[in-house]
Amino acid sequence: MKKIGFKSSISIKITFMTLTAIVVAIIVLGAIMYSSVRTLNDNTLEIIEDEVLDLSHEYYGNYIESIEENIKNYIEGVNKELLILKQLTEEFIYSEEFENVDIENLIFSGDWYQNEDSESTAVFVQGYLLDNDNKIKEEPLKLLQSTKFLNHVLPSFSDNGFEKIQVYFQGGKERAIVRMAPWSNIGENVFSVYPELNDVPIWDTFNPGLIEDWEHKKQINGEENIDYGRVTAPVQDGVTGEIVLTYTQPIFEKNQNKVKGVVSTDVSIEEIVSEIEKVKLGSNGFAFLMQSNGNVFALADRGAEILGLGNVSDSTINRDEGYSILERYISQSEYYSVKELYSEILKENREITLEINGERYIVFKEPMKIYRSWTSNDGFFDEYWYLSFVIPEKELYSVYFKTEEEAMTQMNDAITKLSVYMAMIIITLILAIIAYNTKITSGLRKLVIATDDIRNKNYEINLNVRSSDEIGQLANAFESMANEIKLNFQKMSEQNEILVREIDKRKKREQKIDYLENFDVATNLPNKAALINYLNESSKDGKSGETLVVIGIDEFRKINEGYGYVIGDELIKKVSNRLKNSDYGQILFKLKGDEFGLVLKSENFSELIDIIQKIRLELMEPYQVKDRYLTITTSMGVSSFPYDTDNISDLYKFALTAMSHTKEVNKGGYEFYSKDMNIRARNRLEMIASLDQAIAESEFSLVYQPIVDLESEKWEGVETLIRWNHPSQGLIRPDEFIPLAEETKKIIEIGKWVLIKSLEDLKRLHDSGFWIDLSVNVSVVQLVEKSFIDDLMDIVKKSKIPPQCIHLEVTESSFIEDKNAVKEILNRLKEYGLSILIDDFGTGYSSLSYLKDLPISKLKIDKGFVIDLDVKENQEIVNTIIGLSQNLKFGLIAEGIETKEQRQYLLDHGCKLGQGYYYSKPVDIETIEEMLKK
Ligand code: C2E
Ligand code: CA
Ligand code: CA
Repeated sequence: MKKIGFKSSISIKITFMTLTAIVVAIIVLGAIMYSSVRTLNDNTLEIIEDEVLDLSHEYYGNYIESIEENIKNYIEGVNKELLILKQLTEEFIYSEEFENVDIENLIFSGDWYQNEDSESTAVFVQGYLLDNDNKIKEEPLKLLQSTKFLNHVLPSFSDNGFEKIQVYFQGGKERAIVRMAPWSNIGENVFSVYPELNDVPIWDTFNPGLIEDWEHKKQINGEENIDYGRVTAPVQDGVTGEIVLTYTQPIFEKNQNKVKGVVSTDVSIEEIVSEIEKVKLGSNGFAFLMQSNGNVFALADRGAEILGLGNVSDSTINRDEGYSILERYISQSEYYSVKELYSEILKENREITLEINGERYIVFKEPMKIYRSWTSNDGFFDEYWYLSFVIPEKELYSVYFKTEEEAMTQMNDAITKLSVYMAMIIITLILAIIAYNTKITSGLRKLVIATDDIRNKNYEINLNVRSSDEIGQLANAFESMANEIKLNFQKMSEQNEILVREIDKRKKREQKIDYLENFDVATNLPNKAALINYLNESSKDGKSGETLVVIGIDEFRKINEGYGYVIGDELIKKVSNRLKNSDYGQILFKLKGDEFGLVLKSENFSELIDIIQKIRLELMEPYQVKDRYLTITTSMGVSSFPYDTDNISDLYKFALTAMSHTKEVNKGGYEFYSKDMNIRARNRLEMIASLDQAIAESEFSLVYQPIVDLESEKWEGVETLIRWNHPSQGLIRPDEFIPLAEETKKIIEIGKWVLIKSLEDLKRLHDSGFWIDLSVNVSVVQLVEKSFIDDLMDIVKKSKIPPQCIHLEVTESSFIEDKNAVKEILNRLKEYGLSILIDDFGTGYSSLSYLKDLPISKLKIDKGFVIDLDVKENQEIVNTIIGLSQNLKFGLIAEGIETKEQRQYLLDHGCKLGQGYYYSKPVDIETIEEMLKK
């Protein structure tokens, strides 16, 4: 009994204890399960909410910014292009060419008249709009003809006389047509001629107030480089129906504060408008663009309906003249809340909540400063546009709301049913409970892991809980929630891709503008800014072995002055083409004026010299410019990296120094940069100073070089060459100081001394029975000096030498100065009996037709050709000069003969006279006398 009782009490106890333990365990387990489902749910919801909000903000923020950038770039891009057009126009208008334009009969590239032949209009049309016959293509021609504005104005104003220039640029960026018309004082006259145009917006361009403001602004700012541009508010173009902005840049009278005319262009912003209209935010959201006065000019019809505004055609005011204004003010909305939105948009905050018809919307907005505008009331002011995104609130948070709702029901279900289960579990078998418990925990564990996954943005969730119980349902809800988030993110990333593409498009547009800034329009070559950029970039890359050659055309100024700028510009183009056509792997730049830059990828000196020589000779070939043949020489400066500098950006400075140096000491040649070039520049100033002393202290002396009959080797005469024995610097070569003496006009006095002294020397020779001639070099500075002829005749008379024995050597380039004046002087000299010889022939610019009218007796072939006579090109030049002299019946002397082969070649080809080291270096008069005696 006792035993049994004991047994049974233990069994009861055990059963009781076991049951108690099980019940407690179940209750504890239940509580744990309950709280873990709860927290699980709460946590998940929180994560999702944060995630959705963060992403939306970031996404819409980026989106808005990228559209903003696009718009700004577009607007700015057009302005930059217009500035370039303005510069081109100014260049043309200020040019000599334009002054000479016969304004009554303007016909330009398009062969285009205004309405009738009698109305003068110059039309510039960009090349791609012309067909093969240089006629404007059909399509743009139609546009030109429909430019109502010009048709209105020009017929009447052509009667009122022309003072101003109006350039009109129609059809937007892609279809540019420029019209240039003489423009009377439109600002004052227009309203008297066309009173009905008084309130047409386009007339703002010529508003007297605007012109006054411009002139005032210019007066204040002077020559400072400021942008005077103004842009009108968007209007609808009456011809094309597109929304356009009118950009205007004033053109001032040269160096004055008076507005001469304007360059104006209508630019379609259809691209911007449609970009805004295309924006789709969720299934019902949209974007719009508004001016600061509340005028909404870009908005899709769908959005207009939601905001209670009219669509484009309802909002357009038609003008008789064909121009339409789009007026769709946000204050005209049929909803009060939208009317109020206007003042909200102007405020600082970025996000606005808006309620229309019980529906809540979130408005993201961004103000952007777009351009400078002008009205007669406000004067100049910065115009702002406001870009807004309108998104239904429930769409913005839809993912979140939906998830929350579902999760809550699922959780409540789970909790209720969980309690029922717990009650059943207590009654049900322990093993079943334990087994069941195991199952529940495994499902829950999976849910915990899934929550972690979502936190880590992994939405690829497969819980694999197959049971159809609450845990199973909760798992299913989780899965579909994750799936939905995944889809949403996919959509967002697709839209992000569109953004990336947009940004790419924008970059390309920026590059195009970059290109225009770094580009020389006339030659189609990158300019100095581009070179500097290139060098800076290269220095960053740490490239090795680059050489910059700066090429300057010698005496280009004289070509411009002598033949006019048109010829000069044409010549530059020809030179540039020649450089483009030769291929030494160079990169070519057009620097300022007559200078080119050439970057060669080499630092090997012999290779460089070879290339430079070839280019030099190529450039010396004659150029046909219009109906002339011109020849030039060039001076080049060379600097190499890393030979001259370890900073590649220095190359430009160095090569330029070397080029100036070349011009000074070795015109027509090339020099490699060296450090002492800078020192030399200083020496030059010192030398100018010591020239005075040289004259006073008679530091000059004369030497003579025989001129020989190449066949008989008999002497014909001698050429006088000056020497300067500087007390401290020793012998200074004439090439070094003659140019300085010319510059400072000291050559006049020096030349006189040369003449007196050499005639004295010659007299001595004559008296000793040596009847030879004398050649004296005369600088053009001497030649054009007023008293030159009188002084010369005086000196010759006193010397008692017959003028027929005296030859004056004048360089070819002298004739460029003032052709007719020089010709007259030479005629008088010839009458007097002196003969004239053209020195350094072949290096200058003489044209045949011009030469044959001059009173010239001989040509002297430049020594450069003779010294390098083994170069084939030089042989051809020499042959040509010989042929030329024979045809024109000029005598001929070759200088620089150093070898017997050179003498033979010249003789064989018909040149009879020569001088050079082969016969004798220039020597003093005593030595000459001794040589003559032998
Ligand atoms: P230029 O009138 O062309 O004179 C010829 C130059 O060639 C001279 O140089 C002469 O020494 C040099 N020469 C002669 N034969 C040869 C040769 O076979 N090989 C080489 N390599 N050179 C040869 P120079 O004396 O140094 O004079 C240089 C220039 O200075 C002259 O060129 C001339 O333009 C100018 N010049 C010299 N004397 C006077 C002067 O009294 N008045 C003026 N206005 N200019 C002068
Ligand atoms: Ca000479
Ligand atoms: Ca010469």
